[in-house]
Amino acid sequence: MTAGRGVIRRAAYALLCGAIDTVFPSRCAVCGASVSWGRHSLCAACHDTIPRAGDRCPRCSGYLDSGACSVCGTRAWYVDENIVVANYRGAMRTAVRKYKFSGARRLARPFAELAAQRITDAEGATTCDIVTAVPMGRTKRWRRGYNQSEEVARLVARRLGVPYRRLLRENRGALVQKTLGYRERFLNILGRFSVSPRRMPEGARVLVVDDIFTTGATINECARVLKGAGARAVYGCALARAAAHGDAERDA
Ligand SMILES: [Zn+2]
Ligand SMILES: [Zn+2]
Repeated sequence: MTAGRGVIRRAAYALLCGAIDTVFPSRCAVCGASVSWGRHSLCAACHDTIPRAGDRCPRCSGYLDSGACSVCGTRAWYVDENIVVANYRGAMRTAVRKYKFSGARRLARPFAELAAQRITDAEGATTCDIVTAVPMGRTKRWRRGYNQSEEVARLVARRLGVPYRRLLRENRGALVQKTLGYRERFLNILGRFSVSPRRMPEGARVLVVDDIFTTGATINECARVLKGAGARAVYGCALARAAAHGDAERDA
């Protein structure tokens, strides 16, 4: 009975996608090929070129330099496990840029699917009880219309079967990170975020979704304040990891 219903539901969904494709033909955000509405703006070929980010530190996902990590090895590190979906290049770079700056909001779904896969394969992050996102200041959010990390985080939470909560907020007057160098980012970020105490259950294991992992300063500060507010463990999941300290600075 249930299997029969599943078949009917899938057939109805395929019909719906077909009908929408006829009325509103949609294109892949990366290569421009025509794509079915059900693929959420990312064609199968581009999806398949998004590789796993290899050669990474298991604790922070930073690049390893002859086995040593330059991100978490030299400072107080609060993130128990950090995951990156892919490196910030090729199809992933184009897709993330379209998602952040050109309103390709439907990419949230394929991003969330990829993120949920990586999280399920991970050791710690898969045990999270709550999903949240790196917050965005009010003005920026109003200008862009949405917080891209939050959109993905909500879908990731649904996939993992745990609640999404807006635990973090950005304090007013925070300096923009993108104009700063590597060391300055870690100093500037202190005090940038705070936790909404009423939404934070004591002893929770929290997964924080971010867009681009550059120096690790942002995710580390989120983890620091969450642990200060009673989180037992904090895991991070970023959509993409910048190749070097210059790559994402222009975009962040
Ligand atoms: Zn494509
Ligand atoms: Zn590390």
